Amino acid sequence: MMKLRGIGASKGIAIGKVLIKKQCNITTDKKSIQSIDNEMERLEDAKKQAIEQLKQLQDNATKNIGESEARIFEVHQMILQDEDFMGRAKEIIQNEAVNAEYAVSCTGKEYSSLFKEMEDPYMRERAADIVDISKRLLELLTNQQDLSLSELTEPVIIAAKDLLPSDTVKIDQKKVLGFILEEGGKMSHSSILARTMKIPAIVGVQSVLSKIQDGDEVILDGENGYVMITPNSEVKNEWLKKQKEYKIKLNRFNQLKGTKSITKDGVVVKVNANIGMPEDVDAAIENDAEGIGLFRSEFLYMNSKTMPSEEKQFKAYKTVLEKMKDKMVIIRTLDVGGDKEIAYLQIPKESNPFLGYRAIRICLDKTDLFKTQLRALLRASIYGKLGIMFPMICTLEEVQKAKKILEEVKKSLQNEKIPFSEDIEIGIMIETPAAAMISDILAKEVDFFSIGTNDLTQYTIAVDRMNSQVAYLYNTHHLSVLRLIQKTIENGHKENIWVGICGEAAADPTLTKIFVAMGIDELSVNSGSVLEIRQMIQNINKKESKAKLKI
Ligand code: PEP
Ligand code: MG
Repeated sequence: MMKLRGIGASKGIAIGKVLIKKQCNITTDKKSIQSIDNEMERLEDAKKQAIEQLKQLQDNATKNIGESEARIFEVHQMILQDEDFMGRAKEIIQNEAVNAEYAVSCTGKEYSSLFKEMEDPYMRERAADIVDISKRLLELLTNQQDLSLSELTEPVIIAAKDLLPSDTVKIDQKKVLGFILEEGGKMSHSSILARTMKIPAIVGVQSVLSKIQDGDEVILDGENGYVMITPNSEVKNEWLKKQKEYKIKLNRFNQLKGTKSITKDGVVVKVNANIGMPEDVDAAIENDAEGIGLFRSEFLYMNSKTMPSEEKQFKAYKTVLEKMKDKMVIIRTLDVGGDKEIAYLQIPKESNPFLGYRAIRICLDKTDLFKTQLRALLRASIYGKLGIMFPMICTLEEVQKAKKILEEVKKSLQNEKIPFSEDIEIGIMIETPAAAMISDILAKEVDFFSIGTNDLTQYTIAVDRMNSQVAYLYNTHHLSVLRLIQKTIENGHKENIWVGICGEAAADPTLTKIFVAMGIDELSVNSGSVLEIRQMIQNINKKESKAKLKI
């Protein structure tokens, strides 16, 4: 048996035979042509047919997977309609008097390497979309077709170099047990779609295709990112058992939809979801999240080449608020710096970015940028139940300054007769030991605290959360971190404000009992963990746990 490691992209266990999806080899050799007009016409025809196919794909994907996942095919249509991509292919035909296949292949390579070199990981993944579009045009120009994942005869685990979004979306969900891909990251579309379709997947498994053959039996562990090739019967039986247990667990979680996150002795602990982009709200709703406890608004900025306008932000916030209806949506103001870079902000390189110019420090300095975001938030507030949260707070002055700027923005909206809600909760993240230690003072200023255990752990234990060499020290269970959490909850409650946790520790089921015993009011977790944490809460007796709590 061989065991290879990749990146766990979609949870679950798959056991079955491999089918290798080979790349379709379309020849795109350079050929001189007689009539440029003819070649232009061939290209134009291929474009029209491609747009038709994409419309069809979008319709099918909307029905089978969901509107937001299907939107990728609208983007493909837009790229084909945009004069940039097609214009470049036409330019090659015109200038070099060459065949359309060659021109499309060159344009595809040029554009995909342009995307691959981009700093932003989201934009880097868009190279796959360009490859997908070029391949579609080439198939139409040459009348060739690749192995279709919609026509499989038996259930298989697909192994491939990479999967294009259009491959993934066409698959017969009953026949594909899992994906093993050599390329791709957690943010690639194939990973996102695999998660949406609940198909176990691992990506970034280097040179896996040279180590497996069609028909090999494999075990895929989508949670931890392992693939075991040709396991012996003992290993296989062990994993068949784990697979069965996993399915039972999932079923049990699904039955909790519509039930309350309430302890055995009647204490309500809200389980909210964390999101990064407005589209993520669909998964939160699907998993029955009771609200959005953290919308990391910086992803709107990171996924954009330029500063997102007030209008663009307004639309994004409004979408989430409307979809969540009367449920609370807590939007965190811009938290960049540290490990999150934005090129157009031109933040100078620092030797200690996690201790430097980041989050609220930037917003209180670049007040125009901050005010634009606050205007967009206030305008969107009438569409739902909004909470605004300030990150990386260390001092009382920062909270007071942020609130003062918010008041100024409210005044100017009033002067312009632009409506906003009077009922917005204002909170701060407690993610520095400084904030936790003065939480008694800070609690007098706000409506809620949300504890960011990711940063709180790194700052308390002095361990960089990105540095794998010291990762063994990074421990959210460390007594120092737990004591700071407890202190924050106690101080918040003394001032009658609610206290939640939105760092990764909120989704750690081994900590739920401790947090509930401490008196936590809310846990905000990734959408996939909402029901698991709800189940944990339902099995706890808070009074008993509190009596036993020793930290
Ligand atoms: C945290 O620090 O725990 C947190 C939720 O914020 P982020 O991970 O975005 O820094
Ligand atoms: Mg943080």
